Amino acid sequence: MEQQKIAETMRELVGAANVVNAAADMSPHLIDWRKRHTGTAACVVFPRNVEQVSRVLAHCNANGIKVFPQGGNTSVCGGSVPDASGNSILLNLGKMNRILEINANDNSMTVEAGCILADLQEAALEADRMFPLTLGAEGSCQIGGNIATNAGGTNVVRFGNTRDLVLGLQVVLPDGKVWNGLRTLRKNNSGYDLKNLFVGSEGTLGVVTAASLKLFPKPRAVATALLGFDTVDAAVQAGIALQSAFPGELVGLELISQSEFEISLRHAAKARNPFQHTPLWMVLVELAASTGTSEALADRLTEALEAPSETGAIVDAVIASSEQQRGDLWHIRHSVTEANGREGMGLTHDIAVPTYRIPDFVAQAGAALAEHYPMAVPVIVGHMGDGNLHYIAMFTHEFWAQVPDKMRMQRDVSHLLYDIAAAMGGTFSAEHGIGSLHVEEMSRYKDAQELAMMRQIKDLLDPNDTMNPGRVLPPASDGLR
Ligand SMILES: Cc1cc2nc3c(=O)[nH]c(=O)nc-3n(C[C@H](O)[C@H](O)[C@H](O)COP(=O)(O)OP(=O)(O)OC[C@H]3O[C@@H](n4cnc5c(N)ncnc54)[C@H](O)[C@@H]3O)c2cc1C
Repeated sequence: MEQQKIAETMRELVGAANVVNAAADMSPHLIDWRKRHTGTAACVVFPRNVEQVSRVLAHCNANGIKVFPQGGNTSVCGGSVPDASGNSILLNLGKMNRILEINANDNSMTVEAGCILADLQEAALEADRMFPLTLGAEGSCQIGGNIATNAGGTNVVRFGNTRDLVLGLQVVLPDGKVWNGLRTLRKNNSGYDLKNLFVGSEGTLGVVTAASLKLFPKPRAVATALLGFDTVDAAVQAGIALQSAFPGELVGLELISQSEFEISLRHAAKARNPFQHTPLWMVLVELAASTGTSEALADRLTEALEAPSETGAIVDAVIASSEQQRGDLWHIRHSVTEANGREGMGLTHDIAVPTYRIPDFVAQAGAALAEHYPMAVPVIVGHMGDGNLHYIAMFTHEFWAQVPDKMRMQRDVSHLLYDIAAAMGGTFSAEHGIGSLHVEEMSRYKDAQELAMMRQIKDLLDPNDTMNPGRVLPPASDGLR
């Protein structure tokens, strides 16, 4: 009854066409991309403009109705679906998907939060510019979700995280007030940088409704190579050397273990192995430049690879000679998440350590898994240039089905690996966000003072805990104030 009433009120606030509450209409929004997290809600609301978002939040905040924002629902840590309480609303931004302005002279683009990332990349290219945020879920994820999670992806080594690409934001605060910070200035030292408070806040402080974003010159020349190595140490050393050799041109540096590569080849449609014998470690390298030709860039890359190939540091290499070959190499990389899901039960750890410590991390994590969980296969893929690894402990579906306490085992495996990263000055979460999955790790690994400041900010902006409750921050009852 209560749920029905909430849905009716939402229809009054945003129009009947923008609210659904039939089970079949809501169900795709109530389960996450990996199908590991589910929730319930009174209804799913699809606002069409900032005024509607403002009305919805003001009403919910005043009436104790929790609000769970959702973008493309591709995040993989339980933040994009509501909790199990049911008397909440899911606020999906998908109908706010207009590009408001592209200003090539200003190298900026101002867009609504529900725009799909791939559509923004396309629109930038049409304006002879580039929006460099690139990740496997780009065909579904929304820029609002990217901002809320401070998404990374494969171009961070050159262009930074989403945070580095945001010039200004429009945000509806939990009480319905609108903060219009849509500016495209590169410099603005007038007080606190509020936009950075909302980037990465995962919908706990308000709803991002629009953003001004940085554009870059469209690349004219691209060179892509897949390099093979016998050791992870050789792979990391080669990556560090390439970063020095191609400053400003190195846009992608992705590490892939043999186990991950073969999983992707097994499960990804039309994936082709460019090697006769898959090396133990591979690095996918991409260079891009706004002048010159792809052939000239590929020649320079080939030249740079000669010395390490002669010493045997690089054991095999493929340099893409066509757009098709380049696409094939990236296809293997971008297919890993889906392929891992088909392979078995992969416990994914999105850790980061200083790049030069990656070999230490891989060695220590491998030894710890072999000792405590010998049935797990280490599967590794990651944004090597940022020190960010997706370290996956892969179990067969058959083994996992028989694990009596899955939650506990997942936590134990994770803490084993996170402890190793933490001891190296690393983090348990470099991308994807905290969601509901990693709240416990926030208590375990974050500094108490840091957590206390975060809690104070949350209490200040959202005293009624209207926005995305139970996400990111440990409960206030933990005494973190
Ligand atoms: C195949 C695949 C590859 C991926 N690769 C990467 C990668 O390389 N790097 C990376 O960082 N991530 C990656 N991800 C994770 C995911 O795509 C990103 O976290 C993405 O930024 C989430 O965007 P979304 O629109 O799907 O957000 P959702 O999943 O819908 O939501 C994510 C969080 O943001 C909040 N939120 C969403 N929209 C708003 C808004 N407008 N205002 C306020 N809060 C909001 C939600 O409440 C939730 O807490 C990948 C996922 C998949 C499935």
